[in-house]
Amino acid sequence: MAGEKDYYEILGVSRDASQDEIKKAYRKMAIKYHPDKNPGDKEAERKFKEAAEAYEVLGNPDKRKKYDQFGHAGVKGGAGASGGGGFSGGGMTIEDIFEQFGDIFGGGFGSAFSGFGGFSDFGEFGGTTGRRRRSRRTSKGSNIRVKVTLTLEEIAKGVNKKLKLNKYVQCDACNGTGAEKGSSSAYSTCPTCKGAGQVTQVTNTFLGQMQTTSTCPQCGGEGRILHNKCTKCHGEGIVKDSEVVSVDIPAGVAEGMQMTVSGKGNAARRGGVNGDLIVLIQEKEHPYFTRDGNDLIYGLYISFPTATMGGPVEVPTLEGKVKIKVEPGTQPGKILRLRGKGLPEVNGYGKGDLLVNINVWVPKNLSKEEKKMMETMEQSPNFKPNPDETDKSFFEKMKAFFE
Ligand SMILES: [Zn+2]
Ligand SMILES: [Zn+2]
Repeated sequence: MAGEKDYYEILGVSRDASQDEIKKAYRKMAIKYHPDKNPGDKEAERKFKEAAEAYEVLGNPDKRKKYDQFGHAGVKGGAGASGGGGFSGGGMTIEDIFEQFGDIFGGGFGSAFSGFGGFSDFGEFGGTTGRRRRSRRTSKGSNIRVKVTLTLEEIAKGVNKKLKLNKYVQCDACNGTGAEKGSSSAYSTCPTCKGAGQVTQVTNTFLGQMQTTSTCPQCGGEGRILHNKCTKCHGEGIVKDSEVVSVDIPAGVAEGMQMTVSGKGNAARRGGVNGDLIVLIQEKEHPYFTRDGNDLIYGLYISFPTATMGGPVEVPTLEGKVKIKVEPGTQPGKILRLRGKGLPEVNGYGKGDLLVNINVWVPKNLSKEEKKMMETMEQSPNFKPNPDETDKSFFEKMKAFFE
């Protein structure tokens, strides 16, 4: 990070240096402190980033003007300072730098480090994320989104899904290069941009010179022209096909969660970076259980005699039925908590509970004898509603639970 260090000083150029001189100075520093040339050298990495930060400002005539006028305050993405197109500052990663300024290395750098494959792999710098960057603009395949609907049973244990995707895959005839097999010099440097992938136009206005940079119209930013196109993919390097992707979905996921499987999206043109597969989790409604976080709620009906006299009842869980005991005198609305019978935490720690919400089934049809029994009960003081202290505290608890 440059901090408040002067950008001209960093690049070692004078304040009235031309854009070309600035570009050359940056290129020189970038090559000198290139991470591949200085493996593991944190100081070189810092200088490499510092130079990129300085070049991001001075290399852009508009930002440079603001910097000249207001110093760092003029370009540090603060509100109103630059009005959009804010400055990414010291937060740039090595990958960002190549993404943004890779073109500056042109063709010269690759030859200086022959066998290095033209920036195709940055060792520890690129390897940590598993992504690759190339010197010229590389295409990235688009992401594929799929919805996967899971049952609570699948969510409880985690599940492997084989997803059949219709997508772009690498062309096997040309190994994704887009070039016809056996053609030795399939590519040549783009004559319009000389391999830079960008073209710069300078126009004279009454305010001075205006410089605009745009993607090269001839090569589309690739910096090279393909001559012998692969007949199978017409030079694209990719073809439509289907692929079965195996995805391990961990236990405890929930509706709306997204999982990213990197590199399993669409393949990119001519050996670019694959897109990602994004799996959106949906939950299938369960016939008995309602989910509340990691807890499950089950509504259980018990008979009027069981509620009165107590007894064993069966309750389903995601792992099969279990027997629980209902205490004599159980009121409807009572909640029994079966610890650990809910869903696991998605991070693997802890498990939710199964809450059994008790209802009492009130018969709708009665025989003559039953009706007589009921009339007898109605006369007994035991059947008169009389919530005691325990029940009152229970109502409080229930209120708190549902609030
Ligand atoms: Zn092909
Ligand atoms: Zn071009």
